[in-house]
Amino acid sequence: MTFSIHGLGVTRGIAIGRAVLVASSRVDVAHYFIEPDQVAGEIDRVRRGRNAVIKEIQRLQQSVEQLGPKEAPPELKALLDVHLMLLQDEEIIGGVKHWVRERLYNAEWALTSQLEVMARQFDEMEDEYLRERKADLEQITEKVLRAMQEEMQGGSASLYVPTQALSPSLHAAKPGDADGADKTALVLVAHELSPADMLQFKQGVFTGFITDVGGKTSHTAIVARSMDIPAVVGARTASQLVRQDDWIIIDGNAGVVIVDPSPIILAEYQYKQREHELARSRLARLRDTPAITLDGEPVELLANIEMPEDAAHALRAGAQGVGLFRSEFLFMGRQGHLPDEQEQYQAYRRAVEGMNGLPVTIRTVDVGADKPMDSNAQEGKHLNPALGLRAIRWSLADPAMFLTQLRAILRAAAHGPVKMLVPMLAHLSEIRQTLSLLEQARTELHREGLPQGAVQVGAMIEIPAAALMLKTFLRYFDYLSIGTNDLIQYTLAIDRADESVAHLYDPLHPAVLRLVADTIAEGRAQGKEVSVCGEMAGDVGMTRLLLGLGLRSFSMHPAQILAVKQEVLRADAAKIAPWAREVLESETPAALMGN
Ligand code: PEP
Ligand code: MG
Repeated sequence: MTFSIHGLGVTRGIAIGRAVLVASSRVDVAHYFIEPDQVAGEIDRVRRGRNAVIKEIQRLQQSVEQLGPKEAPPELKALLDVHLMLLQDEEIIGGVKHWVRERLYNAEWALTSQLEVMARQFDEMEDEYLRERKADLEQITEKVLRAMQEEMQGGSASLYVPTQALSPSLHAAKPGDADGADKTALVLVAHELSPADMLQFKQGVFTGFITDVGGKTSHTAIVARSMDIPAVVGARTASQLVRQDDWIIIDGNAGVVIVDPSPIILAEYQYKQREHELARSRLARLRDTPAITLDGEPVELLANIEMPEDAAHALRAGAQGVGLFRSEFLFMGRQGHLPDEQEQYQAYRRAVEGMNGLPVTIRTVDVGADKPMDSNAQEGKHLNPALGLRAIRWSLADPAMFLTQLRAILRAAAHGPVKMLVPMLAHLSEIRQTLSLLEQARTELHREGLPQGAVQVGAMIEIPAAALMLKTFLRYFDYLSIGTNDLIQYTLAIDRADESVAHLYDPLHPAVLRLVADTIAEGRAQGKEVSVCGEMAGDVGMTRLLLGLGLRSFSMHPAQILAVKQEVLRADAAKIAPWAREVLESETPAALMGN
């Protein structure tokens, strides 16, 4: 039966494919297609993993038999019996065979897919005792996954231990290879995905995403946008309503998910999908056209990137540089082992060299809030994480760690033009500490005789306090970059990651526009560059307004550059300016935006 689910569209376009439900705790499992001649081997891998866990439980059962009732309570015996029974249930291996043979999923992916199917059956059971067995099913699946991991690593550690998140090495254990595989498009459906989870899927097999939670400018949405695949977040109960393997349409333009579409609906969306592709290929012709308004104003279009390898996408999209390299993605999903100076230096250097002489703006680490370093990290667990120890506050709390990053950035600057950008500044003391640590990094490198380059230093304006003390900021910094995602969040007191207040997250709120306009105007008045690097810069509905307010530098996901360029080419900056002022003065700016 066809039904639709409404959420928030984060990337334009249409994706059509089968649903792959993934529990947040299992996104670390590798997802890749296998070759048809690997089918038997993959099924065997699951079988061997299962048998290893069965043996382990049987051994435990025997040792439990020899203990008295005090050391081995009857509940433990019963638990082992249940786990053994579940493991021996042929439905697991039967399902795994289906996913491997019919869909060419790798062993781990097939096992977790079958888990999602069976977990759903448990959820639907009337009997409470049986319903609760779902947790046991999840536990034994984790143990089988762990056994398979041990086998691949040639280890022999005890398999029957409390399950924690599996290490990323499992994901990296074997690269995906989609050649020759079943090419049915797949869309990922999850309750929640962290930005680090999303990175795992960046080169992955999915052509669309749906999550129950998240706002339009949550970092998960931002990574989805950088992957340029249709995605809907804040779809509330999607992960409960959608079943494994359901046919799904994601309409990223409207923020709608259609489940089990009828042939007529499917045909309509296939048509829309082709239209979208056509429009994109037309835009591609603008790649080498300079971004200049009708009245001759040159406009700088820069790229936001998450990893050094994204520099190639930025160049392909015709970016004039990188306006925001979110360096925190180098720090995520590493179980607390931070990248050292050499690793960071090499990563920044790759980005700099990848841009062939165009400037790269490296933002110092901005972890915290909805960007925890690891899914179970503490820095995201505070009462109000968005107001807590994130970004520059986190860096200044650990000066040695920050110094490492500053040294790496200065060293990378020896290989091409680098700008440094500092997030979340609000206090003069933070500005002074940052600049003094930067000076220390320069002196240290000089003393050690290590090459370093000149670096322009800029501040992000993303806390209203910063936007209200621009003169101070402009005295200390070479340029400013407006982080509208956070500026909106903090001006309106709306958690950008919370879909329940997403309707109040308003880029056109008069207070937000005032802060943006004042920052642009003050920067221009003092002859210093001001850029916007929040999602507003890549929103074609905002291009004319920002141009009219005097903005001449936009930084966005590479995928949005050409569409924004088209708007720039059609705009007459001088003619738009009076209209932009009117919008700025209005109590209801949205009403004037159709002009
Ligand atoms: C912003 O806040 O607008 C910004 C660009 O930074 P981030 O989205 O990474 O917080
Ligand atoms: Mg920000």
